[in-house]
Amino acid sequence: AGLHGLITEKVRDVPDFPEPGVLFRDITPLLADGTAFSAVVGHLADVFGGEVDVVAGIEARGFLLAAPLAAVLGVGVVAVRKVGKLPPPTLRTAYDLEYGSAEIEVSPAGLTPGARVVLIDDVLATGGTAAAACRLLEEAGTKVTGIGFLIELLELGGRDRLPDRPMHALVSY
Ligand code: IMP
Repeated sequence: AGLHGLITEKVRDVPDFPEPGVLFRDITPLLADGTAFSAVVGHLADVFGGEVDVVAGIEARGFLLAAPLAAVLGVGVVAVRKVGKLPPPTLRTAYDLEYGSAEIEVSPAGLTPGARVVLIDDVLATGGTAAAACRLLEEAGTKVTGIGFLIELLELGGRDRLPDRPMHALVSY
């Protein structure tokens, strides 16, 4: 079945979570499976290896992919966090959600101006979170040279909200 089959077999569909009408793609069984997990990380390393100085992961499931990817590539990892978790000084940005808004932060202590950053998250939905993370990373003087997701939810059009740069998703729904 290859990597695609390995992934789709291990993603659990949860209707009406976190609210009625939403179909949540749960990657818990995928991450818990050693074969699938290492294949996913290996694939991301093939796609993004080479021209990268640091990997940034978006809280919280993005951390679970960004950290092993960084270790395989032999580079460092930086956390893009929900607001209020990181000690000062931080860079912060707000972005719109379907209802209301949210804020994320990074610590400039982990980012060297000019560094080439690969940004990783588990799921691309509307793209608001990843677009905000790109803004923050570039505010810190880094260059986002690639964006990777395990899953892209096509009907939400997130790809169109991301700045124009190499973007890769392992599977699309
Ligand atoms: P966006 O900002 O609308 O693209 O939402 C992306 C964020 O919401 C990511 O950090 C994802 O972890 C999370 N997310 C949205 N939909 C799903 C889903 O179906 N499964 C898992 N995470 C999701």
